[in-house]
This record gives sequence, C-alpha cells and structure tokens, in this order.
Amino acid sequence: MIKITLPDGSIREYASGVTPMDVAKSISEGLARNVISASFNGTTVETETQLTTDGNLTLYTWDAAEGKKAFWHSTSHVMAQALEELFPGIKLTIGPAIERGFYYDVDFGDKKITDADFKKVEDRVLEIAREKHEFKMRSATKAEALELYKDNEFKTELIQNLEDGTITFCDHSTFTDLCRGGHIPNTGIIKAMKILSVAGAYWRGDEKNKQLTRVYGISFPKQKELTEYLELLEEAKRRDHRKLGKELELFHFSQRVGQGLPLWLPKGAALRDRLEQFLKKAQKKAGYEQVVTPHIGQKELYVTSGHYAKYGADSFQPIHTPAEGEEFLLKPMNCPHHCEIYNARPWSYKDLPKRYAEFGTVYRYEQSGELHGLTRVRGFTQDDAHIFCTPDQLDLEFKKVIDLVLYVFGSLGFENFTAQVSLRDKENRDKYIGSDENWEKAENAIINAAKDKGLNYVIEYGEAAFYGPKLDFMVKDALGRSWQLGTIQVDYNLPERFDLNYKGSDNELHRPVMIHRAPFGSMERFIAILLEHTGGNFPLWLMPEQAIILSLSEKYENYAKKVSELLENDEIRALIDNRNETIGKKIREAEVQKYPFMLIVGEEEEKNGTVSVRRHGQEGKGNITIKIEEFAALVKEEVSKSLKSFDV
Ligand SMILES: [Zn+2]
Ligand SMILES: [Zn+2]
Repeated sequence: MIKITLPDGSIREYASGVTPMDVAKSISEGLARNVISASFNGTTVETETQLTTDGNLTLYTWDAAEGKKAFWHSTSHVMAQALEELFPGIKLTIGPAIERGFYYDVDFGDKKITDADFKKVEDRVLEIAREKHEFKMRSATKAEALELYKDNEFKTELIQNLEDGTITFCDHSTFTDLCRGGHIPNTGIIKAMKILSVAGAYWRGDEKNKQLTRVYGISFPKQKELTEYLELLEEAKRRDHRKLGKELELFHFSQRVGQGLPLWLPKGAALRDRLEQFLKKAQKKAGYEQVVTPHIGQKELYVTSGHYAKYGADSFQPIHTPAEGEEFLLKPMNCPHHCEIYNARPWSYKDLPKRYAEFGTVYRYEQSGELHGLTRVRGFTQDDAHIFCTPDQLDLEFKKVIDLVLYVFGSLGFENFTAQVSLRDKENRDKYIGSDENWEKAENAIINAAKDKGLNYVIEYGEAAFYGPKLDFMVKDALGRSWQLGTIQVDYNLPERFDLNYKGSDNELHRPVMIHRAPFGSMERFIAILLEHTGGNFPLWLMPEQAIILSLSEKYENYAKKVSELLENDEIRALIDNRNETIGKKIREAEVQKYPFMLIVGEEEEKNGTVSVRRHGQEGKGNITIKIEEFAALVKEEVSKSLKSFDV
C-alpha cells in the first residue's frame, strides 16, 4: 500500500500502481469527471500515471491554471496532427501551452499557412477531438527517437540534448510527438478551438537561426467560453495601446531614431509629466529625496555592481572615447549610481534611512522581434528609488513602500491585485548571499508588512533573487489580464559590492540594507497598461486635457477664451476648438480624442455665463447647461474622488 497526501492534508491509502484518476474516482464521481491533470510531488503527471511511492497528489480541473495548461498543451498536439495532415512534409519543432492558449512552431518549408487555412485546421482539430483519442506516454531510446525524426533537424537537436533513458513520446490517434508529458485524459473534452494568429519566430529564439512560423491557438471545454474569449480579444484590439497611442497622439516610433525608442509627443509628455508629479508629490511626503544621475557610466561601475556580467555581452556595447582605453556603458540600471550617491559622505545610524528617488532612464538591448509598442522597448524610464536603511528599519520601510504602491494603484483605478512574496529555497540556503540572520529579518519583515497591510498574497519559496527577498504586485486589468507592476526588492549584494556603510550606535561600521522599489515599474510600460486598462479614458485628474470648449461659431471666440481662463484659474485644463467647422464634426473629433467633457458655447451660453456640458461616450445623454463655476466645482469633486492626498 502507498500513502497519498491530498492538498487538504488528508492521507489516503491505496494499492501501489493507483492512478490519479483512480484516486479522483475514490473521492467522488463528480470529481473524476472534471479532473483533467495532476501533479505528484510537485511534478506534472498524467491522470493515468501509476503511482508507486508515498507522496503528495494534487488533482486539477479546468478551473486551475495547471488544468488549463494541460488542456492547451494537449490541444497543441492535436493541432500539430491536423497541420501535418493538411500540410504534408512540414517539420514540427515545439508546441507549449502559454498563459492564454498555446502555440506550435513549425517549419512550413516551401508551404505557407494563411488566414484562409485556419478554418479547415480548426475543423480537423475538432473532428479528431470528437473521436476521443487517449493521450498515452511511452519511453523511447535515444536511437529510436533519432530514427523517428531523422528528417527533422529541429527535433533531432532537441533529442541530442536529452539523456538516453529520459526520452518519452506521447501518442494519440495516429500522431506521435516528442514530449515530457502533462496531458488531459483524452481529446474528447476539447469542444472549441480557434487559431488566433501566425507570426514569425526564430528557432530557439535566436535571430541567427532559421525563421519558423508560430501558429497560436486556443481551446476550451465549452463553445460559450470560446465566444466570450473572442469578444474579449476584440475589445483588447480596440484598446491596444499602440492603436490608442496613435489616435490620442501620445507617442510615436521613428525608424530613423531607432526601433524600440519611443518619442513622446506633447500630449504624451504632458501625461507622463502628470504621473511623475503625482508620484513625486507622494514621495516627498514619504521622505524621499530626488536625485539626478547621468545616462552613462564607466564600464568599471557596472563591473563593480555585477550588471556588466549580467547585461554586458547581451546588451549595448561600450562607448569608446578618443582617449585611449576609456569605456562607458549606457546605464542598464540606476542602482550603481545611487550607491555612489550614498557613498558621497559618511553616515551615522541616526541619519538613516536615506531614500533616493529618480525618474532614471535606462537602456537595455532587446532583439527587434521582441520589441512591442511601449511594453518592450530599448530605452525606458523607471520610477526608481533606493532606500538605504539599517536591518532593524526594514520592517517599517517595507510597510511604507507598500502604502505608497497601494496609493498609486488606488489613484489609477487598479482595484484588483495580488502580491507574491518571493523567499529563499528552504532546502538550499547556500546559494544566497548575506547572513542567515539578516535574511530571516528581511523575510519576516516582508511577510509582516504584507499581513499588516491586508494584502492578498502568496508565498513562493525559491523565487527570491540570490541577493534578497522581494514582493511583487500583480494587477488584473479591466479585461482580466494580469500584469506585474510594482516590485519591492531587498538587496544585500550591492551594499557589499560598493562597500556601503554607516556608523552604528556601537561606533562600529555596519552595512546598510538596500531596498529597490518602483511602483510603476517603467513609465513606458505603465502607460501602456494604463491605456489598455482604461481604454484611454484615464482618471479625470490625469487627463492631459479635462475639457474641450467647442464654439458654435467663430463669433463666440472671446467667450470661449473667457471660459478657458476661468477654468484655468481653477486649475482645470481645457482646450478651445474655435475652427469654422460644424458643431457635429467638432463633437465627433472630440469623442475620438476622449476629452472627458465637451463644453459647447454659443449665444445663449454667452448671455447667461453658462456652458452646455456633454460627457464623453454618452452620446449627448444627460447634457446639462450650467454656470461656469458650477462646472468647475463638478470637475473638482470628481477629481477628488479618485485622487486622494497621500497621508503618511
Ligand atoms: Zn505533450
Ligand atoms: Zn535598483
């Protein structure tokens, strides 16, 4: 008999050879119907894998992330089968599940797959699915595997990197694939499948290698779920930050300036500036001091920090000067510069913590294929800050940073978020630098802070960096997509490398602890996420222009100016559209630009000192005519609802 421990801690005994599906059946028939994947002692197994030792078993249904992964990975096998049937002679490479759906990278040779082919592939996938083929794993020798794939140089390369005795195949229907496992019981539960797109992808992500075709797909156990998903995708397209950035005239990319180097247009720059001012104001209250550092630094600086070892070879290469042997790097991180600011004078424990903040622009090389709008760029500005404190101050500092991050999320309408606490690997504590005592302190500080602030958090062991534990925030946007924002990271490494110290109450020198933190992450990525989250309808306080004054004709230019001036006195940002165009056209254009308020002014309004207020996106419903002061009061009230002041 073997002992199987379930996630709730209960232990059940079974005969050796029991499968996860048998265990599910022994619990309930309903569970057995819904179980599609399992893991045993932390490793993914098939629902039919025979278990022969004691261990921890987790059963997954479609609702679990692991269940979806198995579902999508299994569908990628079926899609590969359909592709092979419909495009004979193609070469399959790899086909993993991804966050949403799956892909298969295929060498189509002289053939080509286009949108027109998608439907017949999908139909064939569903046909195979309906035949309810089981996924069956089997072992193969290296020689057998190489023989099977003798005409496929990609799979051959994969097999050559595997050890004999560890190679497995997965069979279903007439199809066999090299695979490590993790499948649903049979194809029958795949009820809906769609090919989403095709794109170029280099073999193993290396642009020196052959370009393959990546076929992206998704599948669901219910047709309804696919329909809903496709609707969501349509909405995501409408909200694509690259599209909105162009429509709202926020940013631009110029091939002449270079790929991945965004140019901020006046409206986008105003938006950025407003975000910066917002955070600077809160940071000032929280005791941060603003610093400024150059965009380049001597190579030695980054050798000292260790960033050269990390970014050197794979990033921008050193800049040489006319002087012999001088080498500078574009800065990939602001931290080394801030360490040198700390080192500018000696400190006593009474002076700490020091909190240095900078909107610092950094540069990292990304392959051109990896670039994506503002979310993957080659130069970006971090809302960076480094806190230098004593180990005993960590607890309070961490809580303060969390307060700041929560303030940022709250003011920008991100209400749905979770946190991940990344700690050391319990089994392998040697790979981390810093004393055990300090790690203990830092880990407890983070957990206490997360608890104290009522965060919805999970603890991940082994996810800490070698130099310190961290806390990451994941936000869900309006379309239900998760984004990682706001990292708070403890660091024992850089204080060591830069020989930072302070004089303690014992008159001895001690190492400070360093905290890296960036609530936005980078301005570029944050604005992209904010654009997609809000669809361009930013919170009113952040809008570059909160209102546009539309005159009924040029006759009312002076009155329009008067309205604008009065609003300006109340710090309300308004533009005037005084063109000789019809009011209908002016409204349509203002709608596209998403001005929250359109203020229509004509003879009546001028006579009475009023504005006719129309709200964005409401098609004229609820239009009201009110005094200018009343409108100003309305805007102020709405702003104060989302933008509270930051209290420390
Ligand atoms: Zn597989
Ligand atoms: Zn840093």
